[in-house]
Amino acid sequence: MSSEKRNSEIIYSFKCPSCEIGTIDIIKSIYDLPDGDKMLILKFECGNCNFHKNDIIPLTTNMDPGIMTLKVTNEEDLRSKIYRSPLGKLEIPELELKVEPGPRADFYYTNVEGILYRFESAVSIYRRSLENNDPELDEIDDILNNLKKALEGNYKFTLILTDPQGGSYIIPQNKSKYKFEKLGTEKSE
Ligand SMILES: [Zn+2]
Repeated sequence: MSSEKRNSEIIYSFKCPSCEIGTIDIIKSIYDLPDGDKMLILKFECGNCNFHKNDIIPLTTNMDPGIMTLKVTNEEDLRSKIYRSPLGKLEIPELELKVEPGPRADFYYTNVEGILYRFESAVSIYRRSLENNDPELDEIDDILNNLKKALEGNYKFTLILTDPQGGSYIIPQNKSKYKFEKLGTEKSE
C-alpha cells in the first residue's frame, strides 16, 4: 500500500469480551491516502486469546462522550456501523429493548442489522421460557413481529447509544438521520 502511516495511539482499553482475562487496546492509526483523504484504522487486539477486529473509519467520526441517536427508516440504514464500548448503553425505545453497559461481546461491534438479529434471538429465547397462557406472550409476539419488519427495513425506529466516557461510535449510512449530543462538557480543575 502506498498510503502513509502517520501515528498510532491507544485511545481506549478494556477487558477482553471473549476470554475475560486479556486486555484489549483500541489502537488508532491515521493514514494519509494518496488522494489526500485521511482514514482512521482501529485495531482491537487481545494479548491473551486471539480475539481481534479491524475497522477502517472516516477521520471525521466522533468518539467523544455523548448521546448518539440514529433514525432507522429503511434497508440502507441497517448497514450503518455501530461500535458499543463496554460503558455504552444501547436502546431501541420503540421496542423497549436495551443493552445495559457491560461486557456483552455480541453487542460490541456490528451494524444495525446485527443488533436486530441479536435482539431477535434474545427475545425468542425469553419467549420459550414463558408458559403458554402467560399474558406477556402477546406483547412479546408484537416485539418479535416488529423486529422482523425492522430487519426488512419496514419498521421505523430510533437507535440510541449513550456513552459517558467516549469510544463508542455510529457511522451512519445517511448522515442526515444521525445526531450527536455531547455529554460532560464541564471541566473540573
Ligand atoms: Zn481475550
